[in-house]
Amino acid sequence: MHLADCRHWVFDMDGTLTVAVHDFAAIRRALSIPQEDDILHHLAALPAAEAADKHAWLLEHERGLALGSRAAPGAVELVRALHRRGVRLGILTRNAHALALITLAAIGLDTCFEAADVLGRDEARPKPDPDGLLELARRWAVPPTRLLMVGDYRFDLECGRAAGARTALVNLPNNPWPELVDWYAADCAALLARLDA
Ligand SMILES: [Mg+2]
Repeated sequence: MHLADCRHWVFDMDGTLTVAVHDFAAIRRALSIPQEDDILHHLAALPAAEAADKHAWLLEHERGLALGSRAAPGAVELVRALHRRGVRLGILTRNAHALALITLAAIGLDTCFEAADVLGRDEARPKPDPDGLLELARRWAVPPTRLLMVGDYRFDLECGRAAGARTALVNLPNNPWPELVDWYAADCAALLARLDA
C-alpha cells in the first residue's frame, strides 16, 4: 500500500505536530507528584477537592504552553497538503480538547481540522487504548483498518495497531519499534516527501 492511498489520517499532537515543550518533571514538582508517577493517574487517585485544584493549575499551565506552541518541522506543510487533497484529518491527544484547539490555531492549522475530530483526554480513553481511533472511524464511517495513525511515541503506534490501523512514526532519529511501524520518516517534511514519491 502506498502512503497516498491513506485517506484518513489521525495525528498525535505534542511532539508530532508541535515541538515538545512540556517539562513533565517541573509539572510533577509543582504539583507534588512523585517523579515516577503518571500525572493523570496520580491526579485521578487524589481526594476530589485536591484533584480539582491541581487539574485547574495544570490546565492554566498548559494553556500558556499552548499559546506559545511551535510547529514541528514540516508539520504545517504536511497537514495543509493533506487538507488540500481532501484527506479526512483528526487529532488524538492526551492534551485537553480546548487546549488542542488553541495549539492548532497557534501553529496555523485550526482550519484543517473539524473541532469534533479533535479528541482530547476527556473524549477518548488514553492511548495506547484504541478507543479514540475507533471513535473517529465510526464518525467517518470507515473501517478502522483504513486509518493511518501518525505519532512520535510507542503509545501512538500501539494504539494504531490495537485498532487495526496503519501507523507512521516521525520525529525520532531512528525507528526503535519496527514491528509497530508501517512508515518511518525523520520528520513530517520527510513524510510529505514520501507521500509525493
Ligand atoms: Mg507525542
